[in-house]
Amino acid sequence: MTEPSTYDIFIIGGGINGCGIARDAVGRGYSVCLAEMNDLASGTSSGSTKLIHGGLRYLEHYEFRLVRESLMEREVLWKMAPHIIWPMRFVLPYAKGLRPAWLIRLGLFLYDHIGGRKLLPATKTLDMRNDPAGKPLKPLFSKAFEYSDGWVNDARLVVLNARDAADRGADIRTRTKVVSARREGEHWVINLENQRTGETQEVRAGLIVNAGGPWVDAVLAGAVGRNDVHNVRLVQGSHIVVRKKFDDPRAYFFQNKDGRIIFAIPYEDDFTLIGTTDQDFDGDPHDVKISEAETDYLCSAASEYFAAPVRREDIVWTYSAVRPLYDDGASKAQEATRDYVLKSDTSDGPPLVNVFGGKITTYRRLAQSMLEKIEAHLGKRGAPWTAGAPLPGGDFFATGFDAQVRKLMAAYPFLDAGHARRLTRLYGTLASKLLGSAISPGDLGRNFGADLYEAEVRYLMAHEWAVTAEDVLWRRTKRGLHMNEAQRQALDDFMRDANASKNAAAE
Ligand SMILES: Cc1cc2nc3c(=O)[nH]c(=O)nc-3n(C[C@H](O)[C@H](O)[C@H](O)COP(=O)(O)OP(=O)(O)OC[C@H]3O[C@@H](n4cnc5c(N)ncnc54)[C@H](O)[C@@H]3O)c2cc1C
Repeated sequence: MTEPSTYDIFIIGGGINGCGIARDAVGRGYSVCLAEMNDLASGTSSGSTKLIHGGLRYLEHYEFRLVRESLMEREVLWKMAPHIIWPMRFVLPYAKGLRPAWLIRLGLFLYDHIGGRKLLPATKTLDMRNDPAGKPLKPLFSKAFEYSDGWVNDARLVVLNARDAADRGADIRTRTKVVSARREGEHWVINLENQRTGETQEVRAGLIVNAGGPWVDAVLAGAVGRNDVHNVRLVQGSHIVVRKKFDDPRAYFFQNKDGRIIFAIPYEDDFTLIGTTDQDFDGDPHDVKISEAETDYLCSAASEYFAAPVRREDIVWTYSAVRPLYDDGASKAQEATRDYVLKSDTSDGPPLVNVFGGKITTYRRLAQSMLEKIEAHLGKRGAPWTAGAPLPGGDFFATGFDAQVRKLMAAYPFLDAGHARRLTRLYGTLASKLLGSAISPGDLGRNFGADLYEAEVRYLMAHEWAVTAEDVLWRRTKRGLHMNEAQRQALDDFMRDANASKNAAAE
């Protein structure tokens, strides 16, 4: 019998936190294995509002540490991945009877000044009677504030962290579930089950990171065998996607009468993304879906502002996810802290470090804090390195996106502007790796619709762990929104055949 592989660190969970930690750790010289039971980013990390933001609302809950750290991360992350992260301006209409103007001004003043803003433009006041941002709204919103935050393609941020970790030597295993973990002397012995073949395997590690997101307690109770665990509060959030409500590139920040806020954001060229909600959740996070009440809430909250109401019939897609918030005993879901907490358990042998809470925005800082804990247990290796180290495809200037699109079009003159822009948004400088030596669309293979060619699908299968049509349509890309059912089915058939041929060749 062969000895099981042994790693310094074993990470449970291929969401943003697991993949961010894997990248940081392998880059410092630790050997790393990560297991994700489904697809990368199939949990909460593809279901966010997709903002790299300080969290203006968290100032009301005095979360200054979190807001400052998040604000500082905006420009750091933008520079690391200018293809999938970009600045966005937000228009916050002043609404009579809700937060007073002085309070909003104070919040935005802090927002502008506590977060090391260098490239992002400052806050300004808008007269909505002459500003184009006022046009799609009801005329009663005559005044607004405009401020900066960032936008991120959340699912791709996860995959690019995993890709970079793998390029640096990490062993990334998707569709691999951790079924049990036990301590044996100096090591953890971890049992893995391949979710496609049912095969099982044992590996060993000096330390486990539990980055199971909303499953973090389930991992502790199930795989590790702890009794009575209750560390996170599960809070569901849903979004609706409607045909675009406005042409402006700016997003809206709407205050609601219940004290909550929602965003309306330009999305995937043709759509508007509206969300989110906050509702306590009980069940398996994989089964989360929007409720009737959430749909009504989002439609009516947005309709308070837009001159043309948002109706149920306008909805073309919805998605929902579960926040794994650290349970700080807050009474309302919307008030529970969005900060993260890392807790080590060394009670009986090799360490287990759990991740509770966190945001996409703070994933890199969370990974650095995790590395401090890891160093304390396994000994120091390298220094912090991820700030300023571009993610795959992100090795161009933060403000150089349009130049990058032009460069791609010059190298591949057969691409139309929309296609070149889309490929640059998803793959950055790696778009040319995907296109290879193509000199005409015919060289890209079969066209599945909406500019999704076989070359892109094969690239995603070979380099980004895509296995099913869902991985490609809804996570690596959002082509699912632009394709019809027959086109999506054709992609599904193609990928099934491609997987079958790959398996046959491997046997
Ligand atoms: C509605 C909503 C909106 C949000 N908006 C924002 C936003 O705009 N900006 C922002 O910064 N943050 C936002 N967040 C927060 C952010 O999305 C989450 O904090 C973050 O994605 C959590 O990542 P994670 O890696 O901890 O969890 P996940 O992404 O859920 O990853 C955990 C992974 O662990 C895997 N796993 C679990 N058990 C096992 C096992 N036994 N074996 C193998 N794998 C396992 C799961 O399959 C899953 O993929 C939002 C969250 C929600 C729900």
